[in-house]
Amino acid sequence: MRNAIDLVLREARIAGSGPDVVDIGVHDGRIVAIGPHLACEAPAHNLDGRLVVPGFVETHIHLDKSHISDRCTIRQGTLAEAFAETTAAKRGFTVEDIYGRASRTLVKAISQGTTRVRTHVEIDPRIGFKGFNAIRKLKQDYAWAVDLEICVFPQEGLLNDPGTEELLIAACRDGADLIGGCPYVDSDPHGHIARVFAIAEQFDLDIDFHLDFDLDPSWMHLDEVLRQTERTGWGGRVTVGHATKLSAIDTQALAAVARRLAEVGVAVTVIPATDLFLMGRDHDHNVPRGVTPAHRLSAHGVTCSLATNNVLNPFTPYGDCSLIRMANLYANIAQVGRTSQIAALLDLVTTAPAKLMNLTDYGIAVGNPADVVVLDCTDEAAAIAELASPLLGFKRGRRTFERSAVAINWPQA
Ligand SMILES: [Zn+2]
Repeated sequence: MRNAIDLVLREARIAGSGPDVVDIGVHDGRIVAIGPHLACEAPAHNLDGRLVVPGFVETHIHLDKSHISDRCTIRQGTLAEAFAETTAAKRGFTVEDIYGRASRTLVKAISQGTTRVRTHVEIDPRIGFKGFNAIRKLKQDYAWAVDLEICVFPQEGLLNDPGTEELLIAACRDGADLIGGCPYVDSDPHGHIARVFAIAEQFDLDIDFHLDFDLDPSWMHLDEVLRQTERTGWGGRVTVGHATKLSAIDTQALAAVARRLAEVGVAVTVIPATDLFLMGRDHDHNVPRGVTPAHRLSAHGVTCSLATNNVLNPFTPYGDCSLIRMANLYANIAQVGRTSQIAALLDLVTTAPAKLMNLTDYGIAVGNPADVVVLDCTDEAAAIAELASPLLGFKRGRRTFERSAVAINWPQA
C-alpha cells in the first residue's frame, strides 16, 4: 500500500456527499484514503453511519472581550450601552486576563466541533497590543485543536482616534492575518474604509469589516465597500459582518444588492445572536428581528457565513460557541422550514465560511488535514433541526474532544 493508515474512521457519512457510508483512512495527520471497507489493521472508530463534517468554521468571534458579563451591567441593552460598558471593562484588561478568558471561550468552540476560527482583535492606543499579544499566544498554544486567524481592527474608530493607525500597521507587520474595520463608529466612515483598504494593499491582507448596526436602509457604507473592492481588485478577499441594513429591505432590493455582492466578490457574515439582542431597541413591541437573510443572499451566489460574534458580554450576554445552535437559531428567525433548505444551512457554518476565509485545505478529501467532527445524527437537516451533539473531534488526525451520547435508563420490563 502506498500510504500506511494509522487511524481509520469506519462507517462515516460525509456531509454533502450523499447517503453512502464510507471509511476514512488517516496517516500522519492527513486523509489518505476514503472508500467502503478500507482494508487495514489500524486503530478504528466505528461511527455507525453518523454524519461527519470537517469541523465548523467560525468566521467572526471576539475572544479578547468574551466572558466579561460579570464585570458589566446591562440596563437598556442598547448598542451605545454595550459600547460604554465594554470600553470601561477594557481599561482593566491585562494580557493574562485576556488570555484566560479567551481560552475558556476557545475551549467551548473546540468542544462544539469548531476547527477553524477567525477572531477579531481590538487595537487602539488604550489597549495597545495587550489583546494582540494574548491572542497570538493563544493561537500557538491551541494549534493542536484549532487554526486561529487574527483579524486586527479599530473597534473604537480610526481617523477619530489618533495613534490607532500606527498600531494597526505595526500589528500587520507583526503577524496579524488580516485587517478589519468598523466605519460606523468613525467620524469619517469613508476615510476609515479607504485607510483599511490601503493597509490591506500595503500588506497584501484580506479584509473583514464590521458594518451597520442599524436598520435604516436609506444609505449604506456597503456601497463604499463595494466601490473600494472594485477599485482595488480585492474581490473574493473582503467580508462584511452584521450588514443589518440588509434585513430592512424588500425582496427585490435585496436581490439587487445580492447580485452586486456576488459580482464584486464581497462576502457577508450574519450574526444572529448579537443582531437579535441589539437591534430594534427603539421598539417596545413588534420588535424587528434585524437579522440579514443569509440563505437568500447565498441563493444569489453571495458567499455567506453564520457566526457567533460575542460571548458573555454586553453585546451578547449568551453563548456556548455552538455553530449548530447558531444555524438552528437562524433557521427559526428566518423561517427556514423545507428540509432541503434546513440541510443547506449546514453549509453556512462549514463549507461557505471556509470559502469566505479562502481556506485551501478544508474538506474531508484525500490530501487534506484529517480534521473530522462526528455529529450524533445521520443527515444534514437533522444536524440543524435537532441540534445534533458533536460527539468526537479530530484535528490533523489527533483526537481533540469527545462527548458521550445520551443513555436513557429505561425501567425494567
Ligand atoms: Zn464583531
